[in-house]
Parts: sequence; structure tokens; C-alpha cells
Amino acid sequence: MHTEQTPVVVENGLRAANTLPARYRDNSHGRHPALDLAAGTLWRMPGPFGIIRLLGPAYSLRCVVFHDISAMESPFTRGMRVTVPPDDFEAALKFLTQYYTPVRLQDVLDASERRGLPPRPVLVTFDDGYASMMEYAAPLCRKYGMPGILFLNAAFLDNEGLAPDNLVCYVANVLGMEAINAAARAIGNTDIPKLESLAEVFSRFFPSISLAERRAFLEALAHLGGINGCQLAGEAGLYLTRKQVGELAASDFEIGNHTYNHVHCRSLAPADFGQEIGRNKAELEALSGKKVRSFSLPYGSSADLTNDLVRNLQLSGHEAVFLSESVANPRRSDRVCFDRVSIHANKEDAFFFEIEVLPRLRAVRNRLSRGFGLVRMAGKDA
Ligand SMILES: [Zn+2]
Repeated sequence: MHTEQTPVVVENGLRAANTLPARYRDNSHGRHPALDLAAGTLWRMPGPFGIIRLLGPAYSLRCVVFHDISAMESPFTRGMRVTVPPDDFEAALKFLTQYYTPVRLQDVLDASERRGLPPRPVLVTFDDGYASMMEYAAPLCRKYGMPGILFLNAAFLDNEGLAPDNLVCYVANVLGMEAINAAARAIGNTDIPKLESLAEVFSRFFPSISLAERRAFLEALAHLGGINGCQLAGEAGLYLTRKQVGELAASDFEIGNHTYNHVHCRSLAPADFGQEIGRNKAELEALSGKKVRSFSLPYGSSADLTNDLVRNLQLSGHEAVFLSESVANPRRSDRVCFDRVSIHANKEDAFFFEIEVLPRLRAVRNRLSRGFGLVRMAGKDA
């Protein structure tokens, strides 16, 4: 499988924003007023899609990712910026169906140099299997004729357990960050600096610990909070049921793999792939009655797309991989790795900025940082 990794580390003013998983980055909410002004000005110009092409490179597949489509955040999601209100989601679907051509995974897999994709193609995806998919997202997608991919973790279907992120979020919201830090100390790793925010837990702490340490941390967290994860998950009803997954798979939603337990894949040893990737794929295929042929990386970072993972995905029949670094996908017919944009806007100029402008700027920045890296390496060799 050919994959292209987008460097996460950059050396300009966008660095701080890009070291966080896409969903924790500030997008439209609280964005700098100058960016909002630029978005409005660009959108009002004649032919904004033509103008923005000047930024190049050719931007092929637009992929977007959503998580929870709900009117309100809950203690399980507050602070993670995964929740989009149904009205904003509907505005996004209106924008996408008006200015883009919705495509399915099959269209993307079939696209070749000759046949290619239709003009301005867009692929809509959903991660984590929130129950709100059934209540809001799927009915709205049907209303607008929008197909999609659902990337699921089988461990949490039927609300049999709480996903790590929702447990951490719940404890942080109910008991505060001190409880998170106490659980982090309980795993006995003295190198862990004090965690100040949820973003630090997901973008720094989790990627730095082993799977065993992560399990110990989550157990300590539940113990300290007096939480029975299974019971709380059942009460919260955050996730889809297995039956609903079958129903969604029978409509216009393809089911994709998102690991069994929502783990950072850089923590996986080759021996873990069977449990996290193979088992998840097999369970989802049994539920959907269809082949699972795509994989989205939990937390969306290219740093998790290790060579071992790429090999395992290839051998286990995954044909496309999705990141969430919000970078434009260049026009390449042999691509099997696609980046996705996390959308939080609610009006046309802001959608345009999130989907068309910022991903192109990030692609330019990544190319420049690669160029600077090569110059530095050349300098060192000399
Ligand atoms: Zn996820």
C-alpha cells in the first residue's frame, strides 16, 4: 500500500495549532477576526473556487469528518469539540451538496488517472459511532442524498463500555483535572508532566504511554471516580447499537474500521494488530454483512501511521486510510491515504474557508517545511 505521510511538525506560526488532533484545534469558534474577514471577503468575490485555485496545488478529494451531531454537549463530550448542532450540520450538508459532488468510497477506489473523480468531489465521514448518528445525522444525510462512511470501534457498540476519551472527558468535567492527574500518577510513570487540559491528555499523554499503561490509567481513573464504566455507558447511551449499525450499513453508509478500543496506533506492537484491527474488522463485517475496506486512525495523526500499521492494513484488506490533519488532498490517482477536514463552521463563507482555504494553506506550509528540512539536512551533510 502506498502511503504518504504529512509531517506534523512545522516551523511557522501554525505550529501550535497543528500539534493538536484536528478536532481540538480552534476553527471557526474564536478564530482571529482577520481570518473571518478574509473568509467573508473571499467568499463574496466572483468565482471564489476559481480564485482559491491560485493557492494551488490541485485539490482533489475533499474529505470531511464529523463525530457527534447533537443539540447539546454532555459531560462525556464537553471540551472535546466533537459536537456539532443539527442545524449547523444541516447547513454543512446544504453547502456540500450545492457546491460539491458527493462521492462514495467505491468512487474513490475506482478513480484512476483516466476516469478520475467528478468535479469537486466530497466524501463525508463520521468517527466514533455516536448514537446521534441515528437520531440526526443519518436522517439529514438521507434528506440531502449524502452517502457516508462510519468509522466504528466495536468495543463500545450497544453501550457495553465507555470509550477512553468519553471517560476522560466525563471525569475532567465532573471531578476536575486533578482526578486525571492522580490517575496518571497511579501508573507509576514519573516522566509525565502535569496535565492541564483534555487536549494535553489526548495529544501528549496518551501517545506517550504503552497500551498496558493506558489500560492501567483508565482503570485508575474509573476507580478514583467510583465509576463502573459498563453501567455508566449503559446509562449514557452515547453509542450506536449493533442493530443500528446493521440498519445504517443497509442504507447508504459504508462501515469502516477505527480500531477496537480507540487506541493511538503508534502504541501498537505487531502482536496487538489482531486484537485492535483484525478483531474490529471481523466484528464490523459480521454486523454489516459487508467487507470493511477502509480505516480511519483514531486521533487522526499521521504520526500513528507507522510502517508496521501500513503493512498490517494492507495484509488485512484495507484499501483506504483516513487521517484528520485537515490538509488538502493533492490530485494523485494512486492515493490510498486521504486527509480529512474537521468542520465546525455554520455559514457559507466559513465553510469555504475551512474546506477550501485552510487545507490548501496547510499543504503549502507542509511542502515548505519539507523543503526547509531538506535544506537543513543538506547543510548538516556538508
Ligand atoms: Zn475517533
